This record gives sequence, C-alpha cells and structure tokens, in this order.
Amino acid sequence: MLDVLACPECREHPLKLYTFVEVEIKVDRGVVRKLIDQYGGRGLICSLYCGYKRSLVDSLNESIDLCIACLSRDIKYGILQCGRCGRWFPIIAGIPIMYPDHIRLRSRRAQALERVFLKRFRERIPYGALDGESTDRLENRKEDSVGR
Ligand SMILES: [Zn+2]
Ligand SMILES: [Zn+2]
Repeated sequence: MLDVLACPECREHPLKLYTFVEVEIKVDRGVVRKLIDQYGGRGLICSLYCGYKRSLVDSLNESIDLCIACLSRDIKYGILQCGRCGRWFPIIAGIPIMYPDHIRLRSRRAQALERVFLKRFRERIPYGALDGESTDRLENRKEDSVGR
C-alpha cells in the first residue's frame, strides 16, 4: 500500500523501495474482496503502483490473489528513495517517515529518528542505493540544520 506515496520535495512517484524487515500478516479473503470493490478502480487495491509486483498497476492483470500477497507483506523497516532527486525516507515500525526538507533538516526529533535508523540499518543499505545523497547526510548537514 505504498503506491500513492510521492517525494515530498519533487512529487516524484512511485518511490523505489528497499525492504529490510518485513512480516507476514494474515489477511482475510473476504476483506480483500471488499477493499477491491471499494477502492480498486482496476480490480486491484493498489491504485497506481504495486510495491509487491514492483510494477505500475496498468501493466498488471486483476487478481485477488495478487492483492492478498501484496497486503500480506507488512514492511516494518526499509527505505523509500526518490528516483528523481535521490532523497530517501526511512520506514520505521511500519510507518514511512516522509518529512519534507524544511522539517527533516531542522527538527531534532526527525534527525534523532534517522540517526537511530541508520545506526541499525546502515550495513543493509545496498551500495549505490543512496546515490546523490550519502548515508552521512545528517553528519554533513549538522551545522546548517540545527538551531534555525
Ligand atoms: Zn499491490
Ligand atoms: Zn524527489
């Protein structure tokens, strides 16, 4: 269900997903059927981009099994990266933290979250995944981001 997330700076979507921790959750077929009827314009719950299939919905065939597989994946930790500007956003405890720059670079809370995240997952971030913005962005920007 990450299909409608866009980069808060340049509005690019879909974002590239790197999954670090995911859990399987049981989903009820009847509930999925209802969700498809309510939200699935094209017979799928994902409306633009299916993160499970890593494809635009336009190129997928409608199938309830596909939606069940997609919804069964609960991504707890990972990163989303914008293919246009290179910014990346952590997924922490299942929640994508999509702060725009003016918050990300100034909020101590946002920076603390990212620091804890990087401490745990720095090794897992694939080489090259953060092109355009290094994993050290917090360290690099410390001076111009704090206290304004
Ligand atoms: Zn999907
Ligand atoms: Zn962007």
